[in-house]
Amino acid sequence: MKKILLEDHEIPKQWYNVLPDLPTPLEPPLDPETNEPMNPEKLKALFPEALIEQEMSTERWIDIPPEVLDIYAIWRPTPLIRAINLEEYLDTPAKIFYKYEGISPPGSHKPNTAVPQAYYNAKEGIKRITTETGAGQWGSSLAFATQYFGIETVVYMVKVSYEQKPYRRVLMETWGAKVIPSPSPYTESGRKILEQDPDNPGSLGIAISEAVEDAVKREDTHYSLGSVLNHVLLHQTVIGLEAKKQFAKIKHYPDIVIGAAGGGSNFGGLALPFLLDRFAGSMECTRFIAVEPASCPSLTKGEYTYDYGDTIGLTPLLKMHTLGHEFVPPSIHAGGLRYHGMAPIISNLYENGFIEAVAVPQTAVFKAAVEFARTEGIVPAPESAHAVKVAIDEALKCRETGEEKVILFNLSGHGLLDLSAYQQYLEGKLKD
Ligand SMILES: *Cc1c(COP(=O)(O)O)cnc(C)c1O
Repeated sequence: MKKILLEDHEIPKQWYNVLPDLPTPLEPPLDPETNEPMNPEKLKALFPEALIEQEMSTERWIDIPPEVLDIYAIWRPTPLIRAINLEEYLDTPAKIFYKYEGISPPGSHKPNTAVPQAYYNAKEGIKRITTETGAGQWGSSLAFATQYFGIETVVYMVKVSYEQKPYRRVLMETWGAKVIPSPSPYTESGRKILEQDPDNPGSLGIAISEAVEDAVKREDTHYSLGSVLNHVLLHQTVIGLEAKKQFAKIKHYPDIVIGAAGGGSNFGGLALPFLLDRFAGSMECTRFIAVEPASCPSLTKGEYTYDYGDTIGLTPLLKMHTLGHEFVPPSIHAGGLRYHGMAPIISNLYENGFIEAVAVPQTAVFKAAVEFARTEGIVPAPESAHAVKVAIDEALKCRETGEEKVILFNLSGHGLLDLSAYQQYLEGKLKD
């Protein structure tokens, strides 16, 4: 069987909250002004109460609102696809499956959280949302989601991506958002960076500073983050929960679960529902692998410590694996993986030995992406191609050992708006 599909009514009705099941409790976010544990009241300038509650909830299962399910139904459930052609090409006894999140209207997994975030903000009467975006995947997902709820969206877009990826900007504007290249002259944070370095290419950290500053200054405005936070990983568990139902249908279970890791949300979204079985003591042998770029290796090379989420230091401090909030990663094509930190949930699981991490260089990633496109047809997003690369590596190990492992990876998005990166690779111009 090539595809394992679910019906609309099989979209999960609840998200899985991993917080009560973590091997050690998460350490609290700290207030950037006092370095004391954050008072949730202060977060109300940025987030709706429902999301603040989810951020700290001890409930294992959280209901997905019907209004959110109706919008999810535009593209969910997403297919689980067996990469039979890739298996044959690799001559491996492994079975390779991927969950394909690229069929959402913006082309990635990100609307899984953009839609509930827009919903909870609208319910609280919020009229305007600011955010940052790297490659434009998150900004376009939020623009797509907020239009359903009559919310105006302002996106601070990392300048290098704004210039490299003009079509994502057009996509955001098509869905009604306003897009500003960051660092910008419109915020104190942006001006401060531009004074030091007028040609600064921008980073997610700087764009977050600008978006947060803009939101704090206005009553009618909230801020929205596309990864890292607990509630984002919560919303993304819809991916893994569907995948579990799909594997149950074919009476299989993955031995290895793989995802690209920028802030950790698509990896977490796929892996956490499977980790639930691991916490319960069954499926001890499943391995979980987060894949990051060699140029921005927050899990494999970062320090596990409290750090700011942004460059200027306006956000609460989170205990996470981080390369330091002033780290500006090189301008690689997987813009969505250029973040200095890692989700506290993923950092915690890594520290406790429940998940592994590997860092891979850009050229090897594109080689894998092209092999995938030439066998399975789909052109992966450069971010997702990190997972493809490691899925191929693991399948090749099975060829050596003869093991028939079941490999599952998240194809978090398609790369049809990243063709300039493919062009560079095909012309031999891409460097590590
Ligand atoms: C944003 C993005 C990522 C990285 O973000 P995570 O929060 O780590 O998932 C990965 N793949 C795609 C397609 C993205 O758009």
